[in-house]
Amino acid sequence: MPACPPRDQLDVLLPVDTPTDLMTRLRAAPDGETRALALVAVARHTRETSLGNAQGLGEAALSEALRCGSPRAAVEALIGLSFVSASLGQQERALDAIGRAQTMLEEHRLTDQLSGVLNTRALTRLTSGDVTGARQDLQDALDLARQARNPADQGNALVNLAWLACSSGDPKDALHHLNLLEELVHTVADEALSEELCTYMHENRAHAYSLLAREAQELGRSDAQRQAVQQGLMVLRAARLALQVTPSLTSELLCAAHESTLLRLDGDLRGAERAARRAAQLNAVIKQQLYIEPQLCLAELLQSRGEFDAALAQYGAALDIARRQHRHLDIQRLLSAIGALHERQGRLREALDVTREALQAANTAVERVNSAAARHLQLDRELRQARADASSWQDRLRQAEVQARQDPLTGLLNRRGLEEGLLGLQFPADGARLSDWSLLTVVFVDVDHFKHVNDRHSHAVGDQVLRVVGQLLAGQVRAGDLLGRYGGEEFVLVTPVRTRGRAHGLAEACRRAVEGHDWSDLLPDMRLTASVGYAVTTPDRLPQALRIADDHLYRAKNAGRNRVSPAAP
Ligand code: GH3
Ligand code: MG
Ligand code: MG
Repeated sequence: MPACPPRDQLDVLLPVDTPTDLMTRLRAAPDGETRALALVAVARHTRETSLGNAQGLGEAALSEALRCGSPRAAVEALIGLSFVSASLGQQERALDAIGRAQTMLEEHRLTDQLSGVLNTRALTRLTSGDVTGARQDLQDALDLARQARNPADQGNALVNLAWLACSSGDPKDALHHLNLLEELVHTVADEALSEELCTYMHENRAHAYSLLAREAQELGRSDAQRQAVQQGLMVLRAARLALQVTPSLTSELLCAAHESTLLRLDGDLRGAERAARRAAQLNAVIKQQLYIEPQLCLAELLQSRGEFDAALAQYGAALDIARRQHRHLDIQRLLSAIGALHERQGRLREALDVTREALQAANTAVERVNSAAARHLQLDRELRQARADASSWQDRLRQAEVQARQDPLTGLLNRRGLEEGLLGLQFPADGARLSDWSLLTVVFVDVDHFKHVNDRHSHAVGDQVLRVVGQLLAGQVRAGDLLGRYGGEEFVLVTPVRTRGRAHGLAEACRRAVEGHDWSDLLPDMRLTASVGYAVTTPDRLPQALRIADDHLYRAKNAGRNRVSPAAP
């Protein structure tokens, strides 16, 4: 393990356009773990322009994480390193990083990071040609992220599932995953994350529509072709807007390539060429030539113009990149396009040679997949155990959390749950403002002479009565209101209101619900009533309002019970 490079050595690896917030995060990191995580973030940013530098930064992050003893940061660093290695065509190294991350997850029970590891493992599997294994990993990653309610991991899994579907020629499946992604994006509170996911969503949608348009063309269905092209171009406009908010050279490159394909299928060869040239230009800026899309769309464009030799040269350039990176799926796709082109020109010997090469490449890929599969089997066994632990552990935690806030008798909030809810109203999280509801009402409901219920019937009947009162009050509230049992036979309800009149109306409705209920089954010889006190307030004065409402409850009792205080405004 190389030591963490000294600061000036690190500076060499940092791209000049590193955003200042990332630089500040790195420079101002108060401890090793924060610094390691900042390095992971910088490495991620650096991937756009230099995979080599990203690898150096990832390794620096890993040594920093190990030095300060943070397995959490080490796993993040290994996830990033695995991604970079896979992109560089170093599958063995990528798998090695994943294996180490999995061992760490196991040892330190970092189950919440499992989804991220699986997402990355899927990418190495996909590039080496194991589509089934990759799909399984992504589905598992998605399930885990859903269980853990982690929107970033969920979003990544959905984007990757869509990407996998596009790569294996199933655009409808891709659109299905992208629709799920759109639903997710609407619920994401983190704005930066939601913007990033939106960019991926639009780019992948454009890809899916370009594939649909291509399929329709092959089937000779010109209406469907035109429709897919239009939808694709529309999505690209959305993508361009999203890219203004979160610039990404790679997304821009891919969008330009999709645009070229869509315009070509629309018969606009000039526009298609412009877009293809733009994609190639961006590829040159990104230096590492990770994507074959620019060459691919240029090749197809040249082919549709009848410039077969020039098209072959572009396919050849793309094939070189795919071979360097051991990208099996791309290699097969390119060889089949080249074979078809030879065939169409009657060059059967060349077509045969290409087919032979494709077969050979497939055999090599199968061997690679098999040797990787043996390794994965072992990792999977460990993973299944960790996953089982994850769900039972998470379920237990969630259950305990609910129980701690719930009154077991009525199922309403208990005193702790109410207090937490009140704090939430007093200090709302960012973005959750009570904009339309500047006023809140606090309503206290206390059953009258409840002691008599216990005395004349039994404690069990008393319990049943309390349950019913809880249900009657629950019938008066809306989702999001606070309703709980404050203790004994006393209930509290807190809800936004627009006017004092509405607050009184609600208090009166609570009183009437108890009085008007048919108690004859439970309490054959008794009438049951409740007294109600309420107060109207703004969220910042809630504690005072609780005291005032309690005061009014006392007044209602003193005035003879079965009434609301204060009287209607
Ligand atoms: P008032 O109308 O003046 O409030 O009279 P009250 O008898 O309703 O009020 P008090 O506070 O004097 O008595 C409340 C009774 O509620 C006392 C207690 O035994 C009973 N109680 C408290 N918690 C529970 C419970 O969970 N189940 C049952 N069955 N009874 C309870
Ligand atoms: Mg009472
Ligand atoms: Mg009481």
